[in-house]
Amino acid sequence: MRPHVLLALLPFAAVADDAVLDRVAAHAERFGAISRQIWETPELGFHEQKSSALLRDELRANGFTIADAVAGMPTAFTASWGSGKPVIGILGEFDALPGLSQKDVPTQDPIAAGAPGHGCGHNLLGSGAALAAVAVKEEMQARGLKGTIRYYGTPAEEGGGGKIYMIHAGLFRDVDVVLTWHPGDANAVNLRSSLANNGAKFRFYGIASHAAAAPEKGRSALDGALLMLHAIEMLREHVPQETRMHYIISNGGSAANVVPAFSEVTLVARHPDTPTLEGIWERILKCAQAGALATETRVEVEQSTNYANTLPNDALSALVGRNMRKAGGYEYSADERRFAGEIRKSFSAARELPGPDKVLTDASEGSVSASSDVGDVSWNVPTLSFTAATYTPGTAAHSWQAAAQAGTSIGRKGMLVAARTLALSAVDLLQDANAIDAAKTAFDKRKAGRTWATHIAAGSKPPLNYWQSESH
Ligand SMILES: [Zn+2]
Ligand SMILES: [Zn+2]
Repeated sequence: MRPHVLLALLPFAAVADDAVLDRVAAHAERFGAISRQIWETPELGFHEQKSSALLRDELRANGFTIADAVAGMPTAFTASWGSGKPVIGILGEFDALPGLSQKDVPTQDPIAAGAPGHGCGHNLLGSGAALAAVAVKEEMQARGLKGTIRYYGTPAEEGGGGKIYMIHAGLFRDVDVVLTWHPGDANAVNLRSSLANNGAKFRFYGIASHAAAAPEKGRSALDGALLMLHAIEMLREHVPQETRMHYIISNGGSAANVVPAFSEVTLVARHPDTPTLEGIWERILKCAQAGALATETRVEVEQSTNYANTLPNDALSALVGRNMRKAGGYEYSADERRFAGEIRKSFSAARELPGPDKVLTDASEGSVSASSDVGDVSWNVPTLSFTAATYTPGTAAHSWQAAAQAGTSIGRKGMLVAARTLALSAVDLLQDANAIDAAKTAFDKRKAGRTWATHIAAGSKPPLNYWQSESH
């Protein structure tokens, strides 16, 4: 049988899907190298100059039109190709985490102790999303598909929330559907949400004095902070079960023999439901006031990160799930199997978990115990986020194990599952107006008349110094 006869026997959709997957494969090595380069130069949120530039320049070289330093953030950009409707957005992140520096070895071994590292795999996230955008552009070009494919370079997901400022700047106003993914330990598409979170810095101001010679003249800002946190621990018993409250004392004074005139608590609270979290937050503020009242200090509250929970989208979940099954998982090579085995020894996996060859698509609901500014996007545009197996099963995010694997071929193979799934899904949406309508109907149904609310006021400046701790 001649090849073109064979092709004629296959349904058109299957041939088109193969073409999209071929386009992803053609760029896999290049974007794998970019992900590794970003991994080698981990940068904290709002300071991702090198990482952002790498992705931006690669997209520009592939014919995308760049809008640079958008929404008041030097490392935020959009890269668009095509024109008019529909507009399909793909989100990319590229920020690292403090203190998670790690070599690409299966034992804990930092490249530079205390330095940042890619413990959330955002080097893969940003690169895989960009790879998908390029493959989609080529497919649009080849088939004359109408519309726009747009990559969003979104800074500071780990704190600071770049996407919220991009929403306020109107950058999502014309978008029909947003797709994104996150590195994880399984290839999975479902209807899970994430936790809404709210965070603040509580700054206590007291009066300094000699801690031994004149303690009665002092008012301890640290006492104010400690009393607030004691109240938080008592509050913990009387909040809904799914609530999370965590904090650090980011400034506890400067010397034991000086009554601290300044102290700072950084606190984050989370709950699956935003209105419930708002109620808890009111009570947290009372804990702070109580600390200040009893110690005759003063407290100021500075709003920090505030993320919405993710709004699931039933139609997009079905479409992306279908495409992940077409995209397929992957097998470990012998070396990768050995590496994964070593990693597994470093934590006790309670049970056998599905491997990277499995694709888990279901309609399970509930909430993962994490938060993201993808949640805020999901209340403004029909959005779907999924995970791909960039880590051996059982690996926790924000760990040295995750940072290690994000720099290896295991991470890059998982990234390709994501890129294939994203590209197939975006092309489906571009060629089928009904699929976009279904996503919008599902969006309205899940919103059920509720609207997006955030503590981050429109027009406020992004906290570009988010990772610099306050000294006083
Ligand atoms: Zn993270
Ligand atoms: Zn992340």
